[in-house]
Amino acid sequence: LNRRLAEFGTTIFAEMSALAAATGAINLGQGFPDTDGPEEIREAAVRALRDGRGNQYPPGPGVPELRTAIAGHQLRRYGLSFDPDTEVLVTAGATEAIAATLLALLEPGDEVVALEPYYDSYAACIAMAGATRVPVTLRPDPGQARFRLDLDELRAAVTGRTRLLLINTPHNPTGTVLTHEELTAIAELAVERDLLVVTDEVYEHLVFDGAEHVPLATLPGMRERTVTIGSAGKTFSFTGWKVGWITAAPGLVTAVRSAKQFLTYVASGPFQYAVAEALRLPDSYFEEFRADMRAKRELLAGGLEQAGFTVFRPAGTYFITTDIRSLGESDGFAFCRALPERCGVVAIPNAVFYDHREQGAPFVRFAFCKRASVLEEAASRLKGLA
Ligand code: PMP
Ligand code: GLN
Repeated sequence: LNRRLAEFGTTIFAEMSALAAATGAINLGQGFPDTDGPEEIREAAVRALRDGRGNQYPPGPGVPELRTAIAGHQLRRYGLSFDPDTEVLVTAGATEAIAATLLALLEPGDEVVALEPYYDSYAACIAMAGATRVPVTLRPDPGQARFRLDLDELRAAVTGRTRLLLINTPHNPTGTVLTHEELTAIAELAVERDLLVVTDEVYEHLVFDGAEHVPLATLPGMRERTVTIGSAGKTFSFTGWKVGWITAAPGLVTAVRSAKQFLTYVASGPFQYAVAEALRLPDSYFEEFRADMRAKRELLAGGLEQAGFTVFRPAGTYFITTDIRSLGESDGFAFCRALPERCGVVAIPNAVFYDHREQGAPFVRFAFCKRASVLEEAASRLKGLA
């Protein structure tokens, strides 16, 4: 393994899912739903397979039906207008979108300012591109209500070598949804310093309690300098289909496509047609999905509180970050490795998402995209910890 990748080892998601499988523990680690997405969309995939749509290499940018549906979704929900032919690119999940975007836009030696804790593939892809990550740490606010971005720290992180800002909202793993004010400050910084912005918005539909998802591309000056990343895995509960996308100005899409063509070239042919139908589901689908996840959040958050965790109730995503110091623990790694044995539950130590590992040490993430009965059982097991 080369020096660029050596520090990353095995992704925590694979490690913890293997631990869950080996111990039979309830897996609240890796974020995947235990209930598949809508039946009618599965049927759409079957129809595509049967009718021979997408069984051979689909077009490089993605099938036109899906690109049109993605553009339609961005217009309908956010008033953002994208040309399906030149401003939309279908990828093998958001994971490939992240990789292709960073490999296409970064020169060796460039700096990328990213929010810490960050989704693990960001660090690895920045490293593969030969660039350097500059983390800006989200920290709990004094009321312990949410993890907050310090805008002065963000501004101070930008240097003459900064090429792009890598943003994620709603934010995995903290559940923070950046506010309009925070996003405006990010946008102003990007314009002032002439930076590109890559924004991972895969949890765009998972916002709760009146929190609003504001796409960065809607803010002044951002339409032309922003690459927005989305995924059907999260929004429609089909993480195995690996259908993701970017929307961006034509020059950026062309650049990302140059990298993407040598990564997978294309992927997920029949599923692209099914996701095109999914994106056209009525608003009620998205509302019910969100209400269901909100109820699950309450179930797990309540259970974690009763078990003695300090809970950061997420405004978005399907993850809850907790602080284990209220349990008399301080090392999230050790805690998560012992948890299956202690009570039959698997969680993720947030420290893996930090360069400043000590900052992340006491935080542990639990996924709540699981059936109510599973969350109830996990909560009752966790109560045994005290
Ligand atoms: N970005 C974030 C923030 C994620 O949480 C995930 C999924 N865990 C991804 C990207 C990857 O999405 P996909 O499964 O579509 O590759
Ligand atoms: N995005 C999911 C999570 O954060 C996992 C994705 C993966 O396994 N790479 O849990």
